[in-house]
Amino acid sequence: MRKLIFIILIVCLISSLLPLTAYAQTADWSTYSTYDYLSRFINQCGKRVAGTSGEVTASNWLRTEFASMSGLEVSVQPFDYTDEDNAKASSSNVIAIKQSSQATDTQVIICAHYDCVMTGEGVFDNGSGVAVLLAVADSLVAQDLPFDVVFVAMGAEEAGMYGSQYYVSQMTQADIGNTLLVINIDSVSVGDYIYVYGEDVKTDYTQLFVNAGQNNDYDVTVKSKPLYKDIQLAYTGYGGYPYYQTAQLSDHSSFRSASIPTVFFFSGNYDVSLGYQVSSQSTNEVMHTSSDTLSYINEKLGISHVLKMETVVQSITKTLTSPQNATIISTAREHMVGWFWLQTWPVCIVVALLFIVSMVIALRHLNKLRKQAILDDYEVKTDTLFKSVPPDDIYKL
Ligand SMILES: [Zn+2]
Repeated sequence: MRKLIFIILIVCLISSLLPLTAYAQTADWSTYSTYDYLSRFINQCGKRVAGTSGEVTASNWLRTEFASMSGLEVSVQPFDYTDEDNAKASSSNVIAIKQSSQATDTQVIICAHYDCVMTGEGVFDNGSGVAVLLAVADSLVAQDLPFDVVFVAMGAEEAGMYGSQYYVSQMTQADIGNTLLVINIDSVSVGDYIYVYGEDVKTDYTQLFVNAGQNNDYDVTVKSKPLYKDIQLAYTGYGGYPYYQTAQLSDHSSFRSASIPTVFFFSGNYDVSLGYQVSSQSTNEVMHTSSDTLSYINEKLGISHVLKMETVVQSITKTLTSPQNATIISTAREHMVGWFWLQTWPVCIVVALLFIVSMVIALRHLNKLRKQAILDDYEVKTDTLFKSVPPDDIYKL
């Protein structure tokens, strides 16, 4: 009897594991270039914590992948940094440049960080961004665009955006002036929607990416999300960055600090709490948790996580290759609006105080004038009373 119970238990245990194993095995979506890049990146590089040998392995892997695409000039930009615990560490950015055949100094930078946190495998954050970066590079190498395209896999983002800070620090003023736009891709597979974060209030060029992303076969909702929507929540500065960048901390902030227009791709569902972590498909948090693994995401989200990555690829490639959109992107800098910092709480308080003080001064002054007027009026009346009645008339009464 004991033996029978034991056998039943073993059978139950094996059968409970079967669906997960079966799903993981059938998750062969390698016809989608994003999934092919994602699965190879995760399986071949493993954990890529900033400053570790795992990150070096990933850097080498990325250099090889970019180099296998003809038409790209590939280089590695090493840098040292001191982390929040005052420890010294090294990392690198992997750069691949697609030169335009047209005589131009202008460039569009597309970036995604390739490091990850200690927990999980960093599939959503940011294997998905790396997969999109490589797939976009793969489809743009054959295109001749009116600007150079610079692909950058950033190191040490999770440690404090050190890769993008270093990259910007090495740009000349001419480089900064010639950069039309920076497109940052960070965590684009979990969640219900793709969000395209634009600058400030005017988001003409952001809408191009939204339209291009929605106009495909994947049935993924792409939404525009201006950064200013989060200003009130995030006035407090972080790490020396202006308050409006704290809304979504990722590598684009380093470029925005240098006054370069940015577009930021991110997926999630802000209709629910912790929208940056969850979706209606899976209420479990994924970002920076032990659930951020390929098997978990494949099982819980199915193909939808692949279709989100594909949507971002389409959004970027369609926008950049459209001649009409290229013209609009070239004016992106003009769409940056500087006044919206006026909407922050400290400014509101100062303006309110100034208003109250000026009202008090004005009222006091008015009171003074009124008193003066009454006095003047009284003097006039008194004057008239004495002047209008000749003394002779009094005696006639
Ligand atoms: Zn990230």
